[in-house]
Amino acid sequence: MVAGADVIVVGAGVVGAAVAEALSRTGRSVHVVEQGLPGGAVSGASLACIGTHMNDEEELPFLKWCCDEWAAFDAHTPTFEYDRCGQLRFLKQESELNSARHWIDVERNAGLAPELLDPAEVRRIEPLLTGPIHSATWSPNSAVVNPFLAVRMLLETAQAQGVRLTSRAPATKLRLKGDRVIGVETSAGPIDGDHVVIAGGPWTAKLAATAGVDLPIVPRKAQCLATVSQPRSIRTVVGACKAEGGVDAGYTQIQQAMSGQILFNTVLEGGVTAHGSPDAVPEVDRAFIRDSVETLLFLFPSFAEIELLRSWVRYEAVTPDDRFLTGPVGPDGLYIAAGDGGVGFCRSVGMGRIIADQIEGRPSPFRTDLYDPARFERRQAA
Ligand SMILES: Cc1cc2nc3c(=O)[nH]c(=O)nc-3n(C[C@H](O)[C@H](O)[C@H](O)COP(=O)(O)OP(=O)(O)OC[C@H]3O[C@@H](n4cnc5c(N)ncnc54)[C@H](O)[C@@H]3O)c2cc1C
Repeated sequence: MVAGADVIVVGAGVVGAAVAEALSRTGRSVHVVEQGLPGGAVSGASLACIGTHMNDEEELPFLKWCCDEWAAFDAHTPTFEYDRCGQLRFLKQESELNSARHWIDVERNAGLAPELLDPAEVRRIEPLLTGPIHSATWSPNSAVVNPFLAVRMLLETAQAQGVRLTSRAPATKLRLKGDRVIGVETSAGPIDGDHVVIAGGPWTAKLAATAGVDLPIVPRKAQCLATVSQPRSIRTVVGACKAEGGVDAGYTQIQQAMSGQILFNTVLEGGVTAHGSPDAVPEVDRAFIRDSVETLLFLFPSFAEIELLRSWVRYEAVTPDDRFLTGPVGPDGLYIAAGDGGVGFCRSVGMGRIIADQIEGRPSPFRTDLYDPARFERRQAA
């Protein structure tokens, strides 16, 4: 029998690490179990942009809180390549202006400072972005982090407060006594716990099902490309305006890692799929490569001769409304923090705070109803 804890956190991706860190501040004993290695699943595949821009109107106060929290971690423990580089969202045509202006108004009303820039102003910020764009929005508060180092920082901060971590130990089953969860079975033996938080990314529903809990999480393919290392050439995170028809209504993200590799992806509408298995390791789609390279060269024509180095695919956890399931569900003592919809790196620290507040019975500083795991059942009943 592995030593028990007040709280068992299943999963050491960025969400499980953030939950463990937030709980470590409460003085409770916490044990994290990870089936592989920390950060080795979706989190390690992430572009890890931290920001509020063109994201989710209802979540704006929460996103601001998360951005501030990441900045505070950097101020205290500057070990995870936090770079407050800002974000540009390009517009290809005038028809995208309404949407860009809408987002700028919404974010300014929330106290943020996005702007609309013409191509010459864009090039003062991003000199190699010489492609024929109409304009771009600029959000100065966005940042990027190194995803592996960020997970490590959160876990080490938690471990310094006494949190235990057991890697390579899959949790195979939730243990129940009547209507209460009393721990988990793992490959390293059973662990007693008064509370269990499943932060298992796309594997979450499988473990929850062992307690009869049915979660609406499906795995969705996420893909990315990287070039060989380049001298510093992209300074910001570059994306497409969130607009009807913007980059054919899909999404794109381009940035340069500290290693010099240019990381980029473009997914056009219809290019994402909910099918697949979190354990699958397929190749990236050819159409994805073509669309991503086309967008990169549309914006940065001078990159035409740069060689591709690698590509990767991960299945991320998606819910019907693309928002996390975070909170209590099913038997007493069971909590979920998963289903990020592909934007969970930024939000992870807030998810940690929500779970810690709920376990402690404290009010949260932001809305938690948006993430209530029972929201779909409630809507159906209504
Ligand atoms: C290409 C790409 C780009 C992205 N870009 C961004 C971005 O710019 N900004 C942003 O905010 N987000 C981004 N995301 C999304 C973000 O990375 C994810 O939302 C986040 O990493 C999810 O973290 P997680 O901890 O929930 O999942 P994971 O990292 O998958 O962690 C879950 C962990 O639980 C473990 N686990 C599961 N089941 C068990 C079990 N039964 N027992 C033990 N361990 C278990 C797994 O092994 C895994 O380590 C991106 C994702 C991808 C793939």
